[in-house]
Amino acid sequence: MSGVAIVTGGSRGIGRAAAVLLAERGYDVVVNYQANAQAAADTVAAVEAHGRRGVAVQGDVGVEADVMAIFAAADKLGRLTALVNNAGVIDTPARVDAMSVARLERMFRINMIGSFLCAREAVKRMSTRHGGQGGGIVNLSSAAAVLTAAGQYVDYAAAKAGIDIFTLGLAREVAAEGVRVNAVRPGIIDTDIHASGGWPDRVADMRDQLPMKREGTALEVAQAIAWLLSDEASYTNGAVLNVTGGR
Ligand code: NAP
Repeated sequence: MSGVAIVTGGSRGIGRAAAVLLAERGYDVVVNYQANAQAAADTVAAVEAHGRRGVAVQGDVGVEADVMAIFAAADKLGRLTALVNNAGVIDTPARVDAMSVARLERMFRINMIGSFLCAREAVKRMSTRHGGQGGGIVNLSSAAAVLTAAGQYVDYAAAKAGIDIFTLGLAREVAAEGVRVNAVRPGIIDTDIHASGGWPDRVADMRDQLPMKREGTALEVAQAIAWLLSDEASYTNGAVLNVTGGR
């Protein structure tokens, strides 16, 4: 199923790889980003290089008005068939006994409420209950949801564990309405997110502890996302697919 895809946080990292791969597979793509307009423009150019339409839309997924603007941009492109709930943030390492309300609100607002708001708008467009013709949603969980990230960011792990049950619950709500909802659970993937958490060498530091003795690439996660959205995954619903190299 092609059509229009929204990739939140689609300008860099895993989101960028997903946006470009979905374009290669025939989707027009809304590339949402938060701050880095140049990265979003570069991703749109990569989408267009595959002969598809791309549009960059600035917006914070944790702000309802911004989410509405992202979906309005998609509506202009055509029928929404895919949402990749990819935008996500970590924070600097901290124990729970040192976490401020501001930190916790940011963590859950972006990682959890943002995914709920985007899924809400996607379901309104895709579900046969609302006059839609079906579609797919893929949420970004994390291996942290299972491993806990104790001493680093248990708040992030808890938000991602919430994404796991959100995925299954929403999948069951809309299963009979033509919408499949799945998640990918990446392990250590080579993107800038680790630097944003104040640990730029995290990938290199962890490499030897990883089962495959290497990190994953953004493309390897994007390939799982694209598969979950594809008709090849037509009976895969409510699944959380580990893309962790066995970690
Ligand atoms: P990344 O390299 O840090 O890229 C983050 C992307 O999200 C950027 O496009 C950024 O846009 C955008 N973004 C950040 N905050 C946003 C907001 N509030 N609203 C909209 N967009 C926002 O991240 P990544 O490593 O690709 O991670 C993507 C997803 O995979 C996240 O959900 C993350 O938790 C999950 N994940 C990653 C790993 C890993 O090892 N990399 C492992 C497990 C799970 P700007 O550049 O404009 O700020």
